[in-house]
Amino acid sequence: MPARLIDGRAHARAIREELKLAVERHPGQRSPGITVIQVGDDLASTTYVRGKHKAAEEVGFKSAIAHLHDITQADLNKRIRALADDPSIDGILVQMPLPDGLDPDEALEQIPPHKDVDGLHPYNAGRLAQGNPTFIPATPLGVLELLRREHIDPTGRRAVVVGRSRLVGRPLALLLLQNHATVTIAHSHTVDLPSITRTADILVAATGKRGLITGEHVKPGAIVIDVGITRDPETGKLTGDIDRASVEPVAQAVTPVPGGVGPMTVAMLLVNTYRAYRQHLGQA
Ligand code: NDP
Repeated sequence: MPARLIDGRAHARAIREELKLAVERHPGQRSPGITVIQVGDDLASTTYVRGKHKAAEEVGFKSAIAHLHDITQADLNKRIRALADDPSIDGILVQMPLPDGLDPDEALEQIPPHKDVDGLHPYNAGRLAQGNPTFIPATPLGVLELLRREHIDPTGRRAVVVGRSRLVGRPLALLLLQNHATVTIAHSHTVDLPSITRTADILVAATGKRGLITGEHVKPGAIVIDVGITRDPETGKLTGDIDRASVEPVAQAVTPVPGGVGPMTVAMLLVNTYRAYRQHLGQA
């Protein structure tokens, strides 16, 4: 039987509906506030930033995009610190990548950890590494939420995460560990990748290498989560790290690209922002 497709769009829609209702339960109080900072005109970043802004407005947040150009590190830091001091802002997100010449680490460290809804500040990353997480990056959180809503419990399962970036692979591996999976991390220096990935009950691909994971990499009956997003140069369509034609006959369930992890990432950013909002109101 071919693999079941996990519908990330439907789960994300349900989360947004839940959030909208939750926001409506705060009558007379200010709305949750989020500002996304984009520096430069990277096309993919513009698409992501607009998507986040639109989703935030739809659930009743006060959302703003600070679109900056030709800015020095000192001025960028100052802009972030001004948002940090603004009591109407609960979440600050700096869209990566920053243009050459700007230091992402320095920028991220200007965000106070309690407004770091992308979970990338060293404090929040360290808390996750210690097994006591606060704000968790939205994509890994989205993958875990997708599993939860699909009633897939990582406890005791073997998970393999392909990719070790600080945005996706690394925090996701830690999060799966936190959820009692037995976790292996693979990366570009991993020797004989298929022999590693075939041990996985839950296989997550987060490399940005189109079609890297084929049927040969997948254990029969595995859950396969595709985080990768690349554009097919021939068709112009978005595709993932997984070669679905060969993986679907082997796997139990697969997330599609688009429509799998991507919508969950946006939804979980909103969830993190709502959490920060409640903390700032003293309700959490
Ligand atoms: P990075 O480029 O930062 O990291 C890619 C990782 O993949 C690295 O750890 C790299 O290993 C590893 N890798 C590369 N080639 C191979 C290979 N042949 N075999 C095994 N491992 C390999 O990317 P990100 O983590 O930021 O993003 C990964 C993908 O996820 C991208 O396509 C991105 O667009 C997408 N993405 C999707 C999101 C969503 O919402 N769905 C959100 C964020 C990202 P090494 O460390 O050794 O270099």
